[in-house]
Amino acid sequence: MTNTYDTIIIGAGHNGLVAAAYLAKQKKKVLVLERRSIIGGSVVTESFGENFQADSIYAGGTLRPDIIKDLKLATHGLTVDSTPQSFISLQADSNHLTLNAESIKQFSEKDAARWSEFVRFMNKAASILDAAYSTIMPRLPQNINLRDGFGLLELGLELRLAGRKDMINFIRALPMTAQELLDEYFESDIVKAAISSVAIHGSTLGPMSAGTGYTLIHNWLNRGGLANVNVGKAGEITSALANALKSFGGEIRIESDVKNIKVENQIAKGVVLANGEEILADKVISSADPKHTLLKLVGAQDLPPEFVWHTQSIKMRGSVAKIHIQTNGNHGIPEGTLVVAPSINYLERAYDAAKYGEISEHPYLEITTSGNVVSIHFQFAPYALKKSSWQVESEKIVKLAIDTLAEYFPALHASRITHHLITPFDLEQTYGLTEGDINHGQLILDQFLFMRPLPGWSNHKTPIDNLYLCGSGVHGGGGVSGASGRNVIKILK
Ligand SMILES: Cc1cc2nc3c(=O)[nH]c(=O)nc-3n(C[C@H](O)[C@H](O)[C@H](O)COP(=O)(O)OP(=O)(O)OC[C@H]3O[C@@H](n4cnc5c(N)ncnc54)[C@H](O)[C@@H]3O)c2cc1C
Repeated sequence: MTNTYDTIIIGAGHNGLVAAAYLAKQKKKVLVLERRSIIGGSVVTESFGENFQADSIYAGGTLRPDIIKDLKLATHGLTVDSTPQSFISLQADSNHLTLNAESIKQFSEKDAARWSEFVRFMNKAASILDAAYSTIMPRLPQNINLRDGFGLLELGLELRLAGRKDMINFIRALPMTAQELLDEYFESDIVKAAISSVAIHGSTLGPMSAGTGYTLIHNWLNRGGLANVNVGKAGEITSALANALKSFGGEIRIESDVKNIKVENQIAKGVVLANGEEILADKVISSADPKHTLLKLVGAQDLPPEFVWHTQSIKMRGSVAKIHIQTNGNHGIPEGTLVVAPSINYLERAYDAAKYGEISEHPYLEITTSGNVVSIHFQFAPYALKKSSWQVESEKIVKLAIDTLAEYFPALHASRITHHLITPFDLEQTYGLTEGDINHGQLILDQFLFMRPLPGWSNHKTPIDNLYLCGSGVHGGGGVSGASGRNVIKILK
């Protein structure tokens, strides 16, 4: 049977749902197709057994305020808790560091005095990046058209308002290493390591890698600081988006795996599902990652050879695993975002392992708790293991994660009931993330601004007419914000 829609959106992650809801609000006939039996993509709350529920991928998160307002998400079930959350760096002697001026004082009076200036600069830098992420990038090296010109003019005005000194410091910070940037503010290695853990979170980079100044600002923007917000409420974000979409008349179909995008004469005509069903539409927007969309769903046969080569070269380097532990509640771990990041050298060595395709023996961990569940974000766990496979290494990583955390909270062992592990291989197979890359492509400076996903194709368009990209792999994306899902709508007008 053949249906006709104005727009088909591939993937019910938060970006696909944002794009779909905006279009449905404009009275377009919209269909979202999701391969899993649950919506949400990486922003999802799942059950792994009785009394065992967790934000399986991203702990909580928040969308850009304009999206919440435009789509009236508060009326569709979204509650945004803006209470500041603690960010705690665990220390072997139990004298844990909470990132605030008072606690930093115990480690360095000088650093405590500089904390407020650092927070001010980071908030300013994040707002500059936010303005850039809200602007559709021109398709350089092609000519800049009128619409691009207006967008850039607006961005230029916003940047001027940011003030010359902060603007220059922002530009300087982007290519710096997190270590270099933090050296300019702080003397305590413990303080610097705690902050740099947020710079390397989700990236296959160490705090001594160039460009971790940028990733620190990116993650600061997405979290609104260092700590995760709205922990335990990931599913609430995507179900509010789905409710909004449906209220505007849009449709969602789960268990609908798109096998390929139907292309005729370089024009997208619709999609074909894995069960053979063909669904036609005037436009197709994919929130799946660019490599998957272009190389698998379109295929090299319909793309220019040079474009195929560039797409194959997009760097995907997943090295994150997630371990959820169901406990009896007596684990002794406080609320907030906790990190095992005791020194810059520790983090850099954890990253070194990934360079050689090995799992870090002394990993960087980020821990959040929600009810009786303890969730551990583990780095580095490279997708491509040199000497082993994820089928073999699964138990090793669970033991490493639990033993490392239990050094700080010994009660964890006795309180543990069971666990659920998500390896980089699972991120690819179950969550549809090519090579387990959580941001649909590494956040690095050669895949940034007008180079995301590819130079010349940074405005959501593709060489296939009527096929657009709107996921985290395009400019504005990476992390939970909805920016790339919102931006694609501007290009369709
Ligand atoms: C473990 C982990 C930790 C993270 N931590 C952070 C963090 O601390 N801070 C931060 O900002 N970000 C973090 N992220 C990243 C962030 O969650 C993602 O960048 C973002 O959620 C991606 O949203 P999206 O809508 O673009 O894509 P996704 O959420 O990936 O959604 C894409 C959807 O498309 C579906 N799909 C794919 N292919 C097909 C197909 N062929 N047919 C039908 N459906 C298809 C998928 O099933 C999926 O539901 C993390 C991600 C992970 C995995």
